[in-house]
Amino acid sequence: MRRLVKPLVLTALAACCGAAFAATSDPVPHGKLPRWAVPESYALSFKVDPRQQDFSGTTRIKVDLKQASDHIWLHGHDLKVSKVTVTDAAGKTHGAKYVEAAPKEGVVRVDFAGTLKPQELTLSFDYTAPLNQQLQGLYKVSHEGQPYAMTQMEPISARYAFPGFDEPDFTTPFDISLTIPNDEKAVANTKQVKEVAAGEGWKTLTFSTTKPLPTYLVAFGVGPWDIVAGPDISPDAYRATPLQLRGIAAKGEGHRMKHVLSETPSIIHTLEDYYAFGYPWDKLDLLAAPDFSAGAMENAGLVTFRDWLLLLDPDSPAQYVRGSFNVNAHELAHQWTGDTVTTAWWNDIWLNEAFATWMQQKVTMKVHPEYRADLDRVRGAQYAMDNDSLVTARKIRQPITGNGDIETAFDSITYQKGASVLGMFEGYVGEKTFQQGMRQYIQDHKFSTATADDLVDSIAKAADKGEDFKQAFKSFLNQPGVPYVQTQLMQKDGQTVLKLSQSRYLPVGSKGDAKHVWGVPVCVRYGTADGSKVNCELLEKAAGTIALPGASANTWVMPNANASGYYRFGMDKGDLARLGDQISHLTDAEQLAYADAADASFQHGDINAGDLLAALKPLTASRVRAVATAPMASFEWINRHLASNDAQRNALDAWAKSAYLPRMELLGYHRKANEPDDDSLLRSTLAGFLALDVKLPQVRAELLKQGDAALKRRADGHLNLDAADPDLLDTALAVAVQEHGKSAVDALIAELPKTSDPAQRNAMLAGLSAVEDPALAEQVRNFALDKQVKVGEMAALLRGSRETRAQRDAMWKWAVANYDRIVERTGSFAGGRLPGLMGGGGCSQEEADRLQAFFKTRAKDVTGAERGLAQTTENTLLCTALKAKQDPQAILH
Ligand SMILES: [Zn+2]
Repeated sequence: MRRLVKPLVLTALAACCGAAFAATSDPVPHGKLPRWAVPESYALSFKVDPRQQDFSGTTRIKVDLKQASDHIWLHGHDLKVSKVTVTDAAGKTHGAKYVEAAPKEGVVRVDFAGTLKPQELTLSFDYTAPLNQQLQGLYKVSHEGQPYAMTQMEPISARYAFPGFDEPDFTTPFDISLTIPNDEKAVANTKQVKEVAAGEGWKTLTFSTTKPLPTYLVAFGVGPWDIVAGPDISPDAYRATPLQLRGIAAKGEGHRMKHVLSETPSIIHTLEDYYAFGYPWDKLDLLAAPDFSAGAMENAGLVTFRDWLLLLDPDSPAQYVRGSFNVNAHELAHQWTGDTVTTAWWNDIWLNEAFATWMQQKVTMKVHPEYRADLDRVRGAQYAMDNDSLVTARKIRQPITGNGDIETAFDSITYQKGASVLGMFEGYVGEKTFQQGMRQYIQDHKFSTATADDLVDSIAKAADKGEDFKQAFKSFLNQPGVPYVQTQLMQKDGQTVLKLSQSRYLPVGSKGDAKHVWGVPVCVRYGTADGSKVNCELLEKAAGTIALPGASANTWVMPNANASGYYRFGMDKGDLARLGDQISHLTDAEQLAYADAADASFQHGDINAGDLLAALKPLTASRVRAVATAPMASFEWINRHLASNDAQRNALDAWAKSAYLPRMELLGYHRKANEPDDDSLLRSTLAGFLALDVKLPQVRAELLKQGDAALKRRADGHLNLDAADPDLLDTALAVAVQEHGKSAVDALIAELPKTSDPAQRNAMLAGLSAVEDPALAEQVRNFALDKQVKVGEMAALLRGSRETRAQRDAMWKWAVANYDRIVERTGSFAGGRLPGLMGGGGCSQEEADRLQAFFKTRAKDVTGAERGLAQTTENTLLCTALKAKQDPQAILH
């Protein structure tokens, strides 16, 4: 729709100013901005001193005005604009007015003095703004008392840093210049090309023009950084020149980036080989952020991370070393899917995130096969299935109805379900074919944007598949839920066949509609006389069959061969028992699928707690860590919510003890020289489970020794945190806090502000969050609001201590009383997690009711909180229903 042309009298006032500006008549765009004004390039200049509270900026945007208008819509949030001008194509400058049309969303209107014809305009803004305190836009953090300023724009926070068209499909080149104090350093997306003096005490750094980027990928950082050169990444068939690699960290921390820098070249080369497309930017910097809201951010050429993901020492906990590699591979994969090809709109953010997750697993399998990323993929999918079993789950392609949908789009559905669905269809068409499709997709959409249709078309074309394939793929993108494939063995025409039916998986108590149909590539492994075979079919209807050639009438069946399908399966007890007998013949991934099927049957009400524990027990003997530990989550639910008397609790203790204690004792309580890092990881998981969940006295005693040693004060006044095994420090401190109470809590609260090492800080936070004494728990929660605790660390303290109803009641009372302070610290990106942070883990109608009552009027005021509220409430009610359904006495059988 075109705008109405203004009466002539208003046009005649052009170039005037003040109150006589034309009123505009089109409504404020609460969703997408209109497409009749399109940015073509930006020049961003910032003057930033991290020691100050505010910064100033000048933004110039070339805009293609495609229709006559007296105004333009764009974004700006909390910006104090002192001057705005518009220069027309003839070079004439007109005054203009900056109007905050929807301040909460950051939608602004620039009113011209009259109607301008379609042409290229240059908008220019002078403004100041606060350095953000909630880790978004251009924000301020400090490390060891020294301030830094850095950016986090995704998804919609660029508007806090500069006025612009803050939507992903407006990709344009950016020219960035930073005026900073002489004694500071700065980095940005691209290489620095110039430095000039800029008045007393200041200098201006100019960076090379970026390739086309959306606003959310713009990044820079200012402060007394350590800048460490990494190895140049050598040229290859897809990139002609060496790539400069650097590590950026807070002052004094740079030397700890050696490990991650040494791992980076192999990741880049693997990605270049896969996509047949060279790394596209003029350098690569990895920056360890002193405080950060997400895990990491894939800004083109300047990737930012929580500091603990990059700052590693030879004795860093194994999970940090592995997490560092995985997250780095994820962010670098984004340089292709996300940065080279950007999602056109937030409903397709999975094109960025699912691909980066899926690709990271591929890179890890190639570079570090021992990390078993193949099993991470299965576990990630199962984690997503729990969320996807909620009626309130998002779809992979969830329509965006407001900023809340944008902020909450970064969930397990987008990442892990998305990655699993990609892996499933990759398996269906074959790895090579899928790769061809991906290479073409990158070529076709490079330095621009794409939609789900573009991607599905590319894959279908490479695989020579038609509409059926596209519909099957899209059936997983455009509807929520987990397919529940129920199987039944039968004989047909003298052959053994497996009858299949599909519906939506819904746990006991769900109010959802099970009648859903997907196009599911079902692959079945089944026993034959000489081993096993796999057969696959695309199940496109509610029911179907799959032939099992060579199978006997009572063969065993694994309905999700290699766990490559995104679905849960159900079978009758006899078939499940026959499958259980074959555990050792299944692949590791299939053993994980079996564990999920058993738990899904329990949550579906088909088997009881005793059946579940018996079905899971054989897995605990696996030599593979992911398999051996898979039963823990089911056990914890039964232990926490179902066990109701001493006999039941004793039976659970005995189960856990026989399942895991011998393994714990074999591993010992200290890392051995040169042991596989999988052993270190298993030690850490077993210790946490046995000491904190099961509370086995002998394990707690061992950990308490280490906790006590860590809490001893050294000659320099610091706690002796190095005295504990680095993989066990968090659990050791947790046990010490539970055993010693106040003395341990006080010691950790006093030490935290004096500690800069992020791994040790995290261990101390974990220790504090395990506190059980009610008064001390209150002290820890109050500490979470203290400035000594970083914004990004707050949730770690508040998430603990909620196993019992009494603990949850105390947490709830505190959270209600401190609601405004929590919200003020949290910021909009974490709004979706707020209801869960306050009232998550509940398992009663009353807890669901009070959550609803409290947020009834408040949820709409916190971006994303409505979905968080719906999901936390549903989880609470499902837990309540399952608890009512399952008989605790069954634990004893
Ligand atoms: Zn990502």
